[in-house]
Amino acid sequence: MFLKISLYISLIIFLLSLIYKISTWFRYKIGIGSADISTSTRFFSAVKGILSTFFSAKILILLKIFVLDVLLQFRILREDYLRWLMHIFIYGGFVLLILMHALDKTITVAIWKDYYSTINPFMFLRDLFGAVVIVGVIIAIYRRFILKVPRLFSNAMDIYTIILVAVIMLSGIFLEATKMVAYSDYKRMADEYSGLSDPGELKSLEAYWVKEFGVVSPNLKGPFDEALLQKGKELHQSSCESCHARPQWAFAGYGAAKIISPIGVGIDRAHLPSVLWYIHILACFVGLAYLPFSKMFHIFASSVSLLANGVIGKEKLAPANRATLQAMELDACTHCGTCSLRCSVIMAFEEIANTNIFPSEKIASIKALASGKELSPAELRHILEGVYLCSNCYRCTVVCPAGINLQDLWFNVREILLQKGYPEFLVLSPLSFYRGLMKEETVPKDYEKPLILAREAIEAQCDLMKKDKVLPLTPTNRELQSGLNLSAQAQTFSVCFGCQTCSTVCPVVGNYENPQEALGLLPHQIMHAAGLGIRDLAFGSNMLWDCLTCYQCQEQCPQGVHVTDVLYELKNLAVKRVREKTLQPMERK
Ligand code: SF4
Ligand code: SF4
Ligand code: SF4
Ligand code: SF4
Repeated sequence: MFLKISLYISLIIFLLSLIYKISTWFRYKIGIGSADISTSTRFFSAVKGILSTFFSAKILILLKIFVLDVLLQFRILREDYLRWLMHIFIYGGFVLLILMHALDKTITVAIWKDYYSTINPFMFLRDLFGAVVIVGVIIAIYRRFILKVPRLFSNAMDIYTIILVAVIMLSGIFLEATKMVAYSDYKRMADEYSGLSDPGELKSLEAYWVKEFGVVSPNLKGPFDEALLQKGKELHQSSCESCHARPQWAFAGYGAAKIISPIGVGIDRAHLPSVLWYIHILACFVGLAYLPFSKMFHIFASSVSLLANGVIGKEKLAPANRATLQAMELDACTHCGTCSLRCSVIMAFEEIANTNIFPSEKIASIKALASGKELSPAELRHILEGVYLCSNCYRCTVVCPAGINLQDLWFNVREILLQKGYPEFLVLSPLSFYRGLMKEETVPKDYEKPLILAREAIEAQCDLMKKDKVLPLTPTNRELQSGLNLSAQAQTFSVCFGCQTCSTVCPVVGNYENPQEALGLLPHQIMHAAGLGIRDLAFGSNMLWDCLTCYQCQEQCPQGVHVTDVLYELKNLAVKRVREKTLQPMERK
């Protein structure tokens, strides 16, 4: 009764949680333009997409991905052999245990009519699958805590999952072991099934089970007389053998039984088999009920992600499906760290201790963002910094074993955060190149917005940029003449003799009929301003921010002035100053 009620409760919780989790795929809004798409539109668009895939030639691609990437997990194998082994052991062993052991009354009995859990091959297979899962868990612990795979972070969910699997497996093995040694269990079986009543015969059978089956009897202890054992063996063969294989076949439970046998009588008296049974069953039911909210949900979500991204390929997705796919991908992440291991901008973490730089860690923050959780301005800025300190190199997407299109995800999140109105200075840098390439994907009215905001923030801090304010540029103005704090390399501007070659060769300057009007100062004038120490004047020039970093000017300069490097450092100085003045008060809000 307890078993049935617990099972039904956990099944109901599991199903409701599953429905809730899947509904978030249609509700979370992280795709560009997803805010305007209703949940029902997304749902029906997904159903339409799935049906059109099933009834097309793409079904063959789906089958191929299902076998190679979902079942055999080749994507993981390509990246890390040990991780693949761990994954296959845990997931393969667990699935087989569920089918053959947990659902034995439904599945195993339907396939093998004479199934009985204490005969072979079932007894051996159950322990074999259990041992396989335990080896997988040991590899997981070894990789995380001993081998310390670089950039593999352990969060609470990872540890919870390892502990839950370990509790289920260990309680199962020790349950089997305690049942082997428990005298009361043996006694109950002998009374119920042997049909013996003669004390001499019962003693022979008991002696045989003590010697051969590991039962710890409070009445009998070996060594036993050969004749007694022979008699016991005959009785065993006639009454018990058809239902009980030798316990050594259950090698994991038998090994554990040997270890605990010195305290076997105490274990039985303390009803430890019952206690372990409750622990084992409850751990299984808790695992089932909590599965949709645990890391184990990735078994389902990453399979869907692999299949979906496999058939979508490079096709342009309808906005409704793109939003749904990205919300689903957040659940597909296994927190394996492969993307962080391959990420090309990780060295930035040495300078900026923001864990959102790691793609594997960004996902968790983005999940919180997508769920609508209230995030502080500082948290939002950290996410934005994380997604912007990304060179769009695509490496994370290529290696992700869950098939998540990470690059697309970062792009979407950037746009959403930029729309929140923070002046993002990185849009002024070459890092924003990818954004330019994706211009058509962005909401037209929002494309220029972050750029304008960033320039306004700089303007607010640079007096010489203010159109209504003209500062006197006199040699006595000490503040303006203070040094630029540039590196030794960039300080080469001091030898500039104003030949204008840099401005003549500059493709940005050449792009305008009236460059002065569009760009403010031209490269040679910025060098001159730098030479005069008029920092604000240099900062205020649009040329500084429109520079393509093509290095033409630097290569052509007859004086060896590091023109592009000077521009670079001026930009960094401007952003640093404005960030200090503008963003910190905002983050303290
Ligand atoms: S995004 Fe992919 S590669 Fe990165 S941690 Fe998640 S599953 Fe692993
Ligand atoms: S696309 Fe960005 S997050 Fe992904 S590996 Fe490249 S730099 Fe790292
Ligand atoms: S080319 Fe060199 S020397 Fe000539 S103006 Fe530019 S920085 Fe100065
Ligand atoms: S590096 Fe910048 S300033 Fe120099 S030529 Fe190229 S675009 Fe012009």
